Amino acid sequence: MSAQGQPVIILKEGSAENKGRDAQRNNLTAAKLIAEVVRTSLGPRGMDKMLVDSMGDVTITNDGATMLKEIDVQHPAAKMMVEISKATDNEVGDGTTSAVIVAGALLEKAEDLVEKDVHPVVIVEGYTRAAEQAQLILERIAEKIDPSSRDDLLKVARTSMLTKLVTEDAPHLAGVVVDAVMLVTEKGEKGLKVDIDNVKVEKKPGGAITDTQLIRGMVLDKEVVHSGMPKRIEEAKIALVNSPLEIEKTEFSAEIRIDDPTQMQKFMDEESSMLKAMVDKVSEAGATVVICQKGIDDIAQHYLAKAGILAIRRSKESDMTKLAKATGARVVTNLEDLTAGDLGYAKLVEERKIEEEKWTFIEGCKNPKAVTILIRGGTQRIVDEAERALHDAIMVTKDVVEKPAVVAGGGAPEAEVSIQLKAWAQKLSGREQLAALKFADAMDSIPLTLAENAGMDPIDTQVDLRARHGEKGGKWFGIDALSGKVADMYAKNVVEPLAVKLQILRAATEVASMVLRIDDVIAASKMRAPAGPPGGGMPPMG
Ligand code: ADP
Ligand code: MG
Repeated sequence: MSAQGQPVIILKEGSAENKGRDAQRNNLTAAKLIAEVVRTSLGPRGMDKMLVDSMGDVTITNDGATMLKEIDVQHPAAKMMVEISKATDNEVGDGTTSAVIVAGALLEKAEDLVEKDVHPVVIVEGYTRAAEQAQLILERIAEKIDPSSRDDLLKVARTSMLTKLVTEDAPHLAGVVVDAVMLVTEKGEKGLKVDIDNVKVEKKPGGAITDTQLIRGMVLDKEVVHSGMPKRIEEAKIALVNSPLEIEKTEFSAEIRIDDPTQMQKFMDEESSMLKAMVDKVSEAGATVVICQKGIDDIAQHYLAKAGILAIRRSKESDMTKLAKATGARVVTNLEDLTAGDLGYAKLVEERKIEEEKWTFIEGCKNPKAVTILIRGGTQRIVDEAERALHDAIMVTKDVVEKPAVVAGGGAPEAEVSIQLKAWAQKLSGREQLAALKFADAMDSIPLTLAENAGMDPIDTQVDLRARHGEKGGKWFGIDALSGKVADMYAKNVVEPLAVKLQILRAATEVASMVLRIDDVIAASKMRAPAGPPGGGMPPMG
């Protein structure tokens, strides 16, 4: 029997295949849709999104990465867009919306070329070369800053913060962020290093955003263990202990037979004196505060209180590390080893009431290498968005401390790169040149979107912007979204890390290339098909 005419089935039943132009078109559309979603939230005049998850929880944000994290994207190409926004968030902490918008623009421009029968691989090559060139241009036009200048860092932190919900409070919060980052900056082998884990962020609704403060030390969401202990100790000498102040229970079960009340008393006295010895160890070392990672026995608590020592138990391991960095203490594993040299210092240790909870503040540490920012604000939503804005600001400050170069904001560098790229592309041949020119066009998506979001006429603005960039010293002209005019953004102190712009380029080019290279999408049938059109093996778009 011949197999002729018989279809050869290589896919599992229910799988859907989408090939060639169709697959490309479908992917491009999905990826562009994601860019559409975040477009309106770019810049200081960007709108917010209200996202409701399946549990009914509401998030209000205009942070690109947060938006995309919350919406449950199904389409594989759209998922790739979401991933670059996450990657950008991890790498540099800011520019997540921009990365998605530039990627969307790159794909939109590529679509024109695909329609004109330019092979996607040629487009990808042209894009890759243009991206390399664009990075060189950015490096060349960037301005050096002084990473130890508080003023320089403030401008960067403020710019990133001004695009978020907390606009009016940006100056105050930027100050808090810059001071925190400067305190935890350390000298590495290759220049300065900032480990942002050393900036602990705590938040509690209540008060105003301007009550947000930097604590030169730590805030623990723990209360003092015993009511008889002092709640406030000045010039504190702090012991950090990661073994329990308890009598360890034996691993095996033991039975002790006591048939005489005096024996019982003796047994208990024995335990009590062991605990007393532990407490003596602490007070002999000169500690006035003990922070214990494990438990503290009631009897030990009693003795500590009698010795006038403030104690906290069950502190998190991660907090112990930070406490050591903040106070200069050494975490002691064996209480027997505790000496005065292991103790840390804080000007003040105090239990305070924060709304309905009691928290302990360890503050005024000398030259702390770990600090805490305590965010306050009217409601949970406000502190949540303030936390996101702070995260971005901490990251951009870190970016410029580690790589002290900045560019202006407001789409100025993108406009400049676009113009210089077009000049450079003249050297390229044929189709590669077409791709490079499209890449240059895609860069304009940032100033264009900023202008649109600020309610400015996009075409007029672009003409104006080009003219300015043609003039001498015009490279930092961009969209001043707040006044709705084209202005020198560097002079307006709207500056951003070079590192963020480089990352946006890298991420956007990468995802655009990935999406362009796909010409075949094979989707296995869903385990449980959601209600919808019958036989729809392809995941829905958007
Ligand atoms: P992203 O997630 O990409 O950081 P944002 O919503 O934070 O998105 O917007 C960042 C963009 O807004 C950058 O291009 C930045 O230069 C621009 N921007 C910041 N401040 C201003 C301003 N005052 N006027 C115009 N544009 C600004
Ligand atoms: Mg931003």
